[in-house]
Amino acid sequence: MQRLLTCIRGNLAPEEIVKNSLLCCVMGVAMLRAAVGLGSPSGPPQGAPPQAQPSSHGVFVVFLGTGMPRPDPTRQGPSLAVVANGKAYVVDAGTGVVRQAAGAYARGVSALQPTHLDIAFLTHLHSDHTLGLPDLILTPWVMGRSVPLRLYGPTGTQAMANHLEQAYGEDIDVRIHGLEHNTTTGHQVVVHEVQPGVVYQDENVKVTAFTVQHGSWKEALGYRFDADGKSIVISGDTRPAESVVQACNGCDVLIHEAYTEIPGEADKSAYFSSFHTSAEELGDIAAQAKPKLLIITHYVGGAKLNPAQLIQQVQQKFHGPVVVANDLDVIAP
Ligand SMILES: [Zn+2]
Ligand SMILES: [Zn+2]
Repeated sequence: MQRLLTCIRGNLAPEEIVKNSLLCCVMGVAMLRAAVGLGSPSGPPQGAPPQAQPSSHGVFVVFLGTGMPRPDPTRQGPSLAVVANGKAYVVDAGTGVVRQAAGAYARGVSALQPTHLDIAFLTHLHSDHTLGLPDLILTPWVMGRSVPLRLYGPTGTQAMANHLEQAYGEDIDVRIHGLEHNTTTGHQVVVHEVQPGVVYQDENVKVTAFTVQHGSWKEALGYRFDADGKSIVISGDTRPAESVVQACNGCDVLIHEAYTEIPGEADKSAYFSSFHTSAEELGDIAAQAKPKLLIITHYVGGAKLNPAQLIQQVQQKFHGPVVVANDLDVIAP
């Protein structure tokens, strides 16, 4: 275990993450949590130069936000980026999504340069997963993105994008027709409302959506990314779901939510058991799904939560490697 922890702590550029992940194979898991430590709400110093050039190969995940609805200043809203072959694919858009991307960019993840963010996948339309959506639509455009944002998500995504465009209509008009002379294209959103199955494919990734069980939400999705011979499965928000087990089925990385008991919130137990997955239940899911690495994110507990305790609860059933993600962690399968 000591070797693994040594491997995952550090301050590496993305190329080094991918390269040095080979050093971590002693446990059968090529994994690095590197770069970047805790995100800060204010981000890195403005104008700080990136520490590395874009990685031209490989796949890794950058956790842009690992928080939940509670406004914990050390954890932004749920959002991550799968970076494959130097291109970033954002999943969910919690608070701070673009500033966190800028923070990762300043630390060397060139794919997360804000103006390069032009494709995203929403798991569902809960506010904590979409509060950063206007940020993702507008900020990269304000900074110079000229192409529309391609946005994949469940039914309702188009309506949300339309409403946001309407809400920011005055801003868009002033930026296009005022002295900023912004493009007439970069603020646009091309929405694809998706059904389970392969929803996107290019030369870097294949993305497959699957349905999960998130309380009374009519549609909530998880996504599987296949890239560079690796498989990364993202649960989205869900109670224990067989679809997650099937989507992973021995995948390289399973990224899953979890909750643990929270003092004083017992009255919410019906909500949690219908909408979310307890740590013990996640252990059961992971034991069936058999990921080579389980990463817990978007977990309920905040400052009260002891990550070691959370991992211990999961490992009652799942005996593979488990880590708890922090904001701006970079993990390579
Ligand atoms: Zn949710
Ligand atoms: Zn959520």
